[in-house]
Amino acid sequence: MITASFVQDPNFIRSAYILAFGLFIVGLMGLRHPRTAVRGNWIAAAGMAIAIGATLLIEGMGNWGLIALGIVIGTVVGVPAARNVRMTAMPQMVALFNGVGGGAIALIAWVEFRETAGFAHEPLYVAIASLFAAVVGSVSFWGSNIAFGKLQEILPGRPITLGRAQQVVNGALLLTCVALGVAIAAGGDDEILIIGLLVAAALLGNFVVLPIGGADMPVVISLLNAFTGLSAAAAGIALNNVAMIVAGMLVGASGSILTKLMADAMNRSIPNIVAGGFGGGGAVAGGGPADLEGKTVKSTSAADAAIQLSYASQVVIVPGYGMAVAQAQHAVRELAKELESRGIEVKYAIHPVAGRMPGHMNVLLAEADVPYDQLKEMDEINPEFPRTDVSLVIGANDVTNPAANSNPDSPIYGMPILNVNESGSVIVIKRSMNPGFAGIDNELYYDERTQMLFGDAKSAVGEIAEEVKGL
Ligand code: NDP
Repeated sequence: MITASFVQDPNFIRSAYILAFGLFIVGLMGLRHPRTAVRGNWIAAAGMAIAIGATLLIEGMGNWGLIALGIVIGTVVGVPAARNVRMTAMPQMVALFNGVGGGAIALIAWVEFRETAGFAHEPLYVAIASLFAAVVGSVSFWGSNIAFGKLQEILPGRPITLGRAQQVVNGALLLTCVALGVAIAAGGDDEILIIGLLVAAALLGNFVVLPIGGADMPVVISLLNAFTGLSAAAAGIALNNVAMIVAGMLVGASGSILTKLMADAMNRSIPNIVAGGFGGGGAVAGGGPADLEGKTVKSTSAADAAIQLSYASQVVIVPGYGMAVAQAQHAVRELAKELESRGIEVKYAIHPVAGRMPGHMNVLLAEADVPYDQLKEMDEINPEFPRTDVSLVIGANDVTNPAANSNPDSPIYGMPILNVNESGSVIVIKRSMNPGFAGIDNELYYDERTQMLFGDAKSAVGEIAEEVKGL
């Protein structure tokens, strides 16, 4: 009895929360480097377990049967999904999990509306925080589902828009959310009001993310991540739960910083991306520039590629999504070691949106023990291309497409790219002439200095390494 009252004491629960927050922050700090990221994740997960445990100790928690059922379903679905996911499917799983968080928050707001029979008898701040959580959580859930569909290639990666009507429709949906929110905050207690608000926010989530494609997807994914955090923090204010406020704000703040960093790196404005009027005015992405028609590409062999690389003094490796698909990072590291043993300087050019999630290439290359100081960010490596003998592009496409600099009609126009076309020669490893995520042709492949080595990245890099050894 004494023990029960001790652990249910609000001060004990608060202390447990403070311990949990400390672990969240130490965990987040671990995520700053690939080598400490796994430990950071475990530490933050331990913090979350403590926060959940402490919350369950609060008196009058509710229906234990339902809580246990929720935990069992979450564990049965979540643990195998996270353990079995392929590394290449990780971005879409993250999008899905993020969306589920937003959806849960929107449902909490709806439940609170029912529990309190509208928010008429609650302080105004509770109504405002709950309604904010409902709208933003719902936008995040539905928007993340669309992001999942695009990353999983169920939906096309290119923008899908309503054309000029897009901004009007989005504006009308936002106004509907605000109007219904004001009606509820003013005392409206008819359940149809909150259902209408959730439906309008759901449509808004779909219509905001569908028109975003290509280079802008990374920005919107981090924005949705920030939205889930902010909606959780707002729900925490409404429910007077400090753990939700702190955890939500950590996610909201880090997601917002990441969104700003990604948008700056991509030379995009966040309001323009969300309004669907970025780049070429939100036009549906077409193919490549018309003057590519009739042009031919030069293909090469592993043996030829090996000779070119062996006679270079500087080689820049440009990894992209295809390296992740092929899981070629270890083969790439072996080839680089072979070249370095011959006195060739090897560097890796890391584009901020290469792959399908922020930091994707860094994580893969760190796993293959590539020395961290050889990874060069875009701003650092771009001035080096003119004095690079060979750029070896491994499964990267959009991030090397010169149309971003030269073709105002291109959906990626304005996005900074890795200027590999400035190097002495370029060898591109990919399986076919298929486009990348943005769905557009790449002028680089038709450049006279470019040679295509068609094949799976892992086998092609392995073959080159064998040839280099034999020289
Ligand atoms: P891309 O998606 O532009 O191109 C990847 C290329 O890899 C494809 O052209 C494909 O060609 C090739 N490829 C696929 N599998 C293999 C394989 N097994 N072996 C060899 N090649 C392979 O990738 P990038 O990294 O250049 O650009 C990333 C794109 O993704 C950008 O448009 C970015 O905006 C977007 N994006 C990025 C996110 C992020 O956070 N980083 C999130 C969401 C989207 P082929 O089929 O011919 O082999």
